[in-house]
Amino acid sequence: MGLRIKNIDIVTMNSENKIIMNGNIYIENGIITHIGEELKEYKADETFNGRHMIAMPGMINAHTHMGMSLLRNYADDLPLHQWLTEKIWPVEAKLSSKDIYWGSLLSMTEMIQTGTTTFCDMYFYMDEVGKGAEESGIRAMLTRGIIEDRNDPDKKLNESRELFNRYHKASNDKIRVMIAPHAPYTCSPEFLVKAKELASELGTGLHIHLSETEKEVQESYEKFGKSPIEHVYNLGVFDVHTLAAHCVHVDDNDIRIMVEKGVHPVNNPGSNMKLASGFAPVQKMIDKGLFVSLGTDGASSNNNLNMFKELNLAALINKAVDKDALSVKAEDALRMATINGARGLQWENQIGSLEVGKKADLILVNMDKPHLTPKHNLVSSLAYSAYGSDVDTVFVDGKILMKNREMVTIDLEKVKYMAQKQAMDLITR
Ligand SMILES: [Zn+2]
Repeated sequence: MGLRIKNIDIVTMNSENKIIMNGNIYIENGIITHIGEELKEYKADETFNGRHMIAMPGMINAHTHMGMSLLRNYADDLPLHQWLTEKIWPVEAKLSSKDIYWGSLLSMTEMIQTGTTTFCDMYFYMDEVGKGAEESGIRAMLTRGIIEDRNDPDKKLNESRELFNRYHKASNDKIRVMIAPHAPYTCSPEFLVKAKELASELGTGLHIHLSETEKEVQESYEKFGKSPIEHVYNLGVFDVHTLAAHCVHVDDNDIRIMVEKGVHPVNNPGSNMKLASGFAPVQKMIDKGLFVSLGTDGASSNNNLNMFKELNLAALINKAVDKDALSVKAEDALRMATINGARGLQWENQIGSLEVGKKADLILVNMDKPHLTPKHNLVSSLAYSAYGSDVDTVFVDGKILMKNREMVTIDLEKVKYMAQKQAMDLITR
């Protein structure tokens, strides 16, 4: 199956951030086999005319909670702790596998429509998420979020192991699995070590929330005499590849530790603002050499999964916070949303940039719009002006998931209907 996209402006996000104007892309068996100005005579089963379009790598949403989209706009304008303990956790305790399936499919639909081709989910009933990912064709990192159960500490770890055995590298390696202890304040030191050992044994990484709020950091000092990051570091948890969501309240020593251990922080600016958690020192982390990636967090703390919005926030917020217009440049924000996300998921050899030999996970953005005219700087257009709704066509693994904004693999009306139905059922259960 050969696929050709011609007359297209290409934002590659390769190591030089190369941009190719009026170029061509060939895709064969899901792999990019040619990318450049020259028009080669490949035999194509399907040709796309990319006039007025930009091709860029599909966005990578490096931290989210897919099933939470059923709780979108259910509980808002509350501080994190109160939001979690009084509103979210009581409802989450009633979530069924059917809820997770439809909530996750709703999330996948929204993500595909706004240009995300890979997500990293931390939630539960992860088999349902895997099932949805297989059906929709999106690329997925599944991580079973674990809040330690003192009565049966091994149960959720065993579930993670089973998930790994069932889904890791499944679906033509479109699905992978990591281990996800929720946070140092919901998992004991002994349990964190166990989770790390499981990740190490399986040869995969860890996904965890770290230093999201001031309260969390304060309590860590009270309990352990050190910051959450130093606490986890001293336990040896960072000896495995670690994707750390938030990292909002980090000091110089925390950043030094993250650099030493190659920890991958995920910036979640929308969620951090909504829950009044604060602002992560993103530019400082970039300056120290960390590969900061980008995530939306769950749809009930954002309240959507639109990576174009997140990209825009990431490129804007730190400028104001740092009072420095050079802070988190458009290009840096776009790297966070693409190639850095791939690094965070240990997937950078296959996705995150448009290069020959990589998987054809790419999106076409329709630039034929007033708010994207004129085209002075494509990266600025994407980071500062584009909306998720400007995404026209989405490919994952060379397969079309959305074409001219029509969903190809997902029954949109059914997903909306079932998500609404399950959400209403859930809150009255
Ligand atoms: Zn989260």
